[in-house]
Amino acid sequence: MTNEIKNLIYKLAQQHSLTEEEYIQLIEARDAEAQALLAKIARQAADEVYGKTVFIRGLIEISNICKNDCLYCGIRCGNADCARYRLRPEEILACVDQGYALGFRTFVMQGGEDVWFTDEVLCNLIQTIKTRYPDCAVTLSLGERGRESFAKLRQVGADRYLLRHETADAVHYSKLHPEKMSLAYRMDCLRDLKTLGYQVGCGFMVGSPYQTTAHIAKDLKFIETFRPDMCGIGPFIPHKDTPFRREPAGSAELTCFLLSVVRLIHPRLLLPATTALGSISEGGRERGILSGANVIMPNLSPVAVRDKYMLYNNKLSSGPEAAQNLKDLKERMVSIGYEIVVDRGDSKQ
Ligand code: SAM
Repeated sequence: MTNEIKNLIYKLAQQHSLTEEEYIQLIEARDAEAQALLAKIARQAADEVYGKTVFIRGLIEISNICKNDCLYCGIRCGNADCARYRLRPEEILACVDQGYALGFRTFVMQGGEDVWFTDEVLCNLIQTIKTRYPDCAVTLSLGERGRESFAKLRQVGADRYLLRHETADAVHYSKLHPEKMSLAYRMDCLRDLKTLGYQVGCGFMVGSPYQTTAHIAKDLKFIETFRPDMCGIGPFIPHKDTPFRREPAGSAELTCFLLSVVRLIHPRLLLPATTALGSISEGGRERGILSGANVIMPNLSPVAVRDKYMLYNNKLSSGPEAAQNLKDLKERMVSIGYEIVVDRGDSKQ
């Protein structure tokens, strides 16, 4: 590691910000030594805020029906080979009941943009969950619904919303999405969610097709200024039935490096070690935690549909990824010195 890189790492830790040029330099000139130093400082920063704890979220994949056609995604509407499903509200509630008994205090309802889930259906669902379990947080990750819809869902009790910005560069965004989608609208949604009082998560894939280091630097600058409560960063992994089937996957190593960078930008951020990171490398989630992440989102979806929410090849949904195997996950965290806690795990931003 050169002195220049070491100085950049210390500058980031102290000032929580670098210029785009500095981010590019840090990423391009990183080596194993720089990665280890950055991870150590990032982990210390997370420990100062959250101690040796990891929050868990019960992920319920409510539908893989989607009106969008994002080029990277296995559940895009253009994928005729995807076996579609939609959970009924009572099935979703059964997942919540099971998750509560297991110790989950946050439920994340994620899905494709499925128009069957109208505001009315979702409002009823959210109200039922919040009445049954007032000590729990409800997170939504259901794509671009528009301000009015976001407002209604917030009013009945939704606490958080995850909407990755995917890339902060408009030209890059246009290469990953169909023409009718735009970065400008995605950003409008994120700002609306924030002003409506949600705890908001943005994020991006590492190694998505056409991504350059300059794009990543832009993502980091966006994260600096937007000040999200959560940030989802995971490697891009190709899916066999998408136009990007032959593109290489992003690396676990760069993903962990960027988790550390983002932890130092916002030490209080809720930062998941994503399923994609766990899917691409054995022990990926543990490495994510050791790089500064502090959230894990095990899968609570009914076993019968888990294989159908296939965003990318070989997505993990069993083993420690399954909420029912919490014991295994707890042991894995203990083995690296961390403890899973029963807690809503709200944002401290
Ligand atoms: N429809 C909602 C939305 O647009 O936010 C939520 C579901 S979407 C499938 C959740 C996230 O999965 C996306 O934001 C994207 O970053 C990630 N994803 C999709 N395809 C992926 C792939 N091939 N590799 C890695 N992550 C992927």
